[in-house]
Amino acid sequence: MANKDYYQILGVKKDANQDEIKKAFRKLALKYHPDANPDNKEEAEKKFKEIGEAYSILSDPDKKARYDQYGTADTADFGAGFDFRDFYGEGTSDFGSFSDIFESFFGGATHRTSRRDRARKGADLRYNMEITLEEAAFGAEKKIEVPVWETCTTCKGSGAAPGTSKRTCPDCKGTGEIRVTQNTFLGQSISIQTCPRCRGEGQIIEDPCKTCQGTGKVKKRKSINVKILAGVDSGHRLRLAGLGEPGENGGPAGDLFIVIYVKKHPLFKRSGSDLYYDHKISLPKAVLGGETTVPTLEGKVKMKIPAGTQSDTVFRLRGKGTYILGSKNRGDEHVKVTVEIPKKLNTQAKKLIYELAQEMGEDIEKIGEKNFFEKVKDSFSKR
Ligand SMILES: [Zn+2]
Ligand SMILES: [Zn+2]
Repeated sequence: MANKDYYQILGVKKDANQDEIKKAFRKLALKYHPDANPDNKEEAEKKFKEIGEAYSILSDPDKKARYDQYGTADTADFGAGFDFRDFYGEGTSDFGSFSDIFESFFGGATHRTSRRDRARKGADLRYNMEITLEEAAFGAEKKIEVPVWETCTTCKGSGAAPGTSKRTCPDCKGTGEIRVTQNTFLGQSISIQTCPRCRGEGQIIEDPCKTCQGTGKVKKRKSINVKILAGVDSGHRLRLAGLGEPGENGGPAGDLFIVIYVKKHPLFKRSGSDLYYDHKISLPKAVLGGETTVPTLEGKVKMKIPAGTQSDTVFRLRGKGTYILGSKNRGDEHVKVTVEIPKKLNTQAKKLIYELAQEMGEDIEKIGEKNFFEKVKDSFSKR
């Protein structure tokens, strides 16, 4: 390998300090970056590598000292030599995007820009769907309206008014990117930004199509049928691939996510595929047993109450819950029975309760109003 004058390559004096070396390198790297020289890519790349090599030696105090002492440019002498990947992260034979490289050069001072030709997936859309408990339990088919973007028929998608066409953006000369130089206390910072005039398109529309306002697309509403599976619950998501926003530069469309909300039911509480229902029964029915009618999602059913049923006893109606998602089986309905104590009774009914109490061996003196009044009377007479 022929001896190279690294100082000459970077255009700095032999006694240049690290700041000067760095500055010179930045300037040249910008100038010779292959992406900045699309017409002369090969030559620029060669030069760019040479600059990188020079910088890798001169920016390293050890390597620089040896270079200064021996005057040799043979990178093999310097150990690992110069590898572009050390510098540019994942850059291999292909250079990353122009902005990516400057990000590593200047740290946070640059702004990452998106290349205009990069295919991007469209944004996902979310649709909140409210359904009834019955629909969730047994499944349903719902018709919903979703936005769809169609190619504008007026301009055939170009965005330019009929009879006109796009032209190259004068601000960025069609590259879609502009360089912004800023003076900061750290020195000059150069960032590559998406051209604001053409938004990175590289082309501008002078006479936009009136139908689509120059976007080339028109938003329409389309009604689609959505199949709700039996057993879905609040928070479940349904993904409809490709029904989101359209992609850019040939990228795929996003997805439409249908998020399920099951409305509160006036009678039932739900937990998984099980339902819970609170049911009141009369005192005689609880004592003597019998039959009662309870609601289910499919109408009323008869339920047996055994004699001597206590309050808060839970009966289970097997298979009367919701379907289990993805299964042919169903959960259960749990009926919690509360014994209703009558609040108002006529004299005859009260008499019968007294008789019942007596029959059951209760101390009649300690039951009811009579006892209560006697106590009050006693307390008065004692004074
Ligand atoms: Zn149009
Ligand atoms: Zn532009």
